[in-house]
Parts: sequence; C-alpha cells; structure tokens
Amino acid sequence: MEMSTMTQDPAKDIVATNIEQQKETLNPHEIARLLINNATRELGLPSAVYEYLKEPERVLHVSIPVRMDNGEIKTFVGYRGQHSTVVGPAKGGVRFHPEVSLDEVKALSTWMTFKCAVVGLPYGGGKGGVICDPQQMSKRELEALSRGYIRALADFVGPDRDIPAPDVNTNPQIMGWMMDEYSKMKGYNAPGLITGKPMILGGSAGRGAATGRGVVICIREAANRIGLNLRGATAAIQGFGNVGSWTAMLLDELGVKITAIVDARGGAYNPSGIHIPEAVEYYKEHGTVTGLAHTQNITSAELLAMEVDILVPAALENQITLANADQVKARIVAEAANGPTTPEAGRIMTEKGILQIPDILCNAGGVTVSYFEWVQNIQNYYWTEEEVNAKLELMMVNAFNAVYKVHEQRKVSMRRSAYMVAIKRLADAMTARGWI
Ligand code: GLU
Repeated sequence: MEMSTMTQDPAKDIVATNIEQQKETLNPHEIARLLINNATRELGLPSAVYEYLKEPERVLHVSIPVRMDNGEIKTFVGYRGQHSTVVGPAKGGVRFHPEVSLDEVKALSTWMTFKCAVVGLPYGGGKGGVICDPQQMSKRELEALSRGYIRALADFVGPDRDIPAPDVNTNPQIMGWMMDEYSKMKGYNAPGLITGKPMILGGSAGRGAATGRGVVICIREAANRIGLNLRGATAAIQGFGNVGSWTAMLLDELGVKITAIVDARGGAYNPSGIHIPEAVEYYKEHGTVTGLAHTQNITSAELLAMEVDILVPAALENQITLANADQVKARIVAEAANGPTTPEAGRIMTEKGILQIPDILCNAGGVTVSYFEWVQNIQNYYWTEEEVNAKLELMMVNAFNAVYKVHEQRKVSMRRSAYMVAIKRLADAMTARGWI
C-alpha cells in the first residue's frame, strides 16, 4: 500500500547514484527534501508524511525600504518561511546575509522543524532572512532594517504563531529592536514574540552560550562512545561567530586543544593549540582571527582537511561536499552550522568511519534555550543560569541518546537516525490530529 508508493519514489537511491556519478545537488531545499524522504522510507511511514513536510506551509516575501545614511531609500528583500506547525508554533532564527535566498530559507525552516522535533520541543520550524551585508551598514541603518522587517511580518508572527530568534549575523540587540517595534505596534509589551533578546528585555540567562554549549555536550557524548579522551584531543573550528567562539571556549575548558580556527575573513593555526581567550578578545577587536599572535594563516579548505580529532563546521551550508569529503581526517564531525555537509559527503564520511553529529541534533542547544526563554516570558518568572544549563544538559543528553540508540539498532548513520527520531514525532502528531 503506502510502502509501494514510497519505493517507487525516484529519490530512492539518489545518494548512492550521485556518489557513483560524482554529482550532487547543492540546493539546500532539495537536500532537505531528500533527507525527509529517506527517513520516511526507512520507517515505512505513509507517503502522506512526506507530502505534508516536503514544502513549507507558508513562505513570505517582503520588501523593506530603508532610508540609508546618505539620504537615499534602498529596498531590501526579506523572507520568512514557516515550514510546519504540526506540533506547535513555528520557531527559528533570522539571518542577515548577502547570500540569503528563497530556497535557503525554505530549507532552513524545514531543518528547524526537524531540530525541534529531535529534542521534543513543542514547536514547528521557521526561519527568516534578509538579503543584505550587515558589515557594510551603519548601526542606524541596521536598526531601521530590523524594525522594517518585523513591521512587514507583524501579522504573521507572534508568541503563539511564529517566534523568531538570532541566526547568522543577527544578535540580541537586533532582537531587542524587533521586539520593541512589534510591542509598539500591538500596544503592549510582547517579549514572547522573539527569543535571544538582551536580558533586560526578557532574554534568558545562558542563551548566548547555548548553541555552543549544546555542541560541546554532543561532542562529549560522541567522544565517550568512541573512547576519545577530550583532555588533550585536538579540534579545528570553521566559523568564529557566536556558535564557533562559544564552542571553542567550552571545548578549551574541557582541555581540548584547538589548533585551527577560520572565520569569514581568514584563519589562524597553531599546532600546539591556540590561546582561546586571546583569540576571542582579538576577534572582538579586529573582526577576524587572522594575525593573532603565535599563529600562522590557514584557509578554510586546509582547516577542513586537517589532522584533528574533532572538526566543527560552524559557518554556513555546503562546506563538506563530494569535492572534499574524502579529505576529512577527523574522528568526529560536529555540525554546529545548519546544513554544512551534503548527504553525499556525509555518506562518504560514514564509510570512512567518521562519527558525524548531524546539525539538527548538534546545534539544537540554541533553540532549546530559546524555548526556555519563551516559557519564562510567558510565565514572567525567570530562572538562574545554573537552572537553564542543567535543563539544557538534560534535554541534549536525552536527544543524543535517542539518536544514538536508533543509529546503533538500525545500523543507519546518525543523520538518518536523527531524521527518523524527529519524523516519528511529527508523524505521531499528524496521526493524533487526524491528518493521516
Ligand atoms: N538560529 C538558531 C538555529 O538555527 C536558533 C533558533 C532559535 O533559537 O529559535 O537553531
């Protein structure tokens, strides 16, 4: 019945075929669909589950006219994707980046649905983006853009509908402006609209470090499973924004030697280990780690191929592809970014025996503490950082264990297993709602 429909699906062996033919899609939305399709099939779920999830429920395209500092009006394009609300309101960040595209937003919102489901959060997936280069904009221009973006979306987002948060190149200040603009429009204070806010506006203790903390919890669990002692182990980190830098600091605290870091402008390498607190200070001042004392320059391609125990891609999509997957030498690849590995590259690394912690599990610490922030906003009752971290630890370890168990029992990759854990929850919700 349903199973036969599924087996006829042309996506069936696409990963295997693509590896043989040395070709792969880099379109993130196609990749997201492929991952969902594979998990639906592996669990023998009705094809309706895939049909409900293959496209976002809604994607909004907005234009945001901003008066620039030179007096001229410039119109920016922004998107907000709401992938699924089957288990709760849409949830996910907003990125400001020149490469933002409709398909990227669709994929990122899809991944958020699966990320929330893998942890068991009562949310669906959302993601937004604005095509812009924040490095080239003044603070006033950024504020106008942030306010304009949320104004354009005001009727479609909200604490019970869709809750934005930070992502690439957005931060607590931007969340604060958006929350203020929305609250003014509504006529009441609405901290539950958005998470990752400054603490004075209802932000949660521990939210800044949360994604990195979750990444490090996953690395610790993975290291335990493969018998890797983290004290003295080596790591390389691609990306030194919020997630990359917190991951570096927390790995450093565990005694991991970070030998290489790259950011959008360059890199730093020291085989005896980079001094992380100095690197963080240096990055704050210079906007890059290039030129840090006692380090040599290194490129992103060199970093990904380095002889280290742990590789952490913490930047953008499609960094490990068919073109370089066979060069990865790490024992653990911890996907702190969203979509850094193509399915084909993942399969090659699995064959090489590399344990990959997939993005939807690895970087779920951020949205988990966002969930805590939203709960605190709704209750108007705030928790200490210790409480937040303890709850985060519990949720991440439970999620890791659930994914690892399916990985072992079903002999599937950690990525496939994470999608299976997530899609099972989504399918259960669909059944309970009477959709299938
Ligand atoms: N942008 C982050 C992510 O990709 C956080 C989302 C959130 O906190 O809602 O997971």
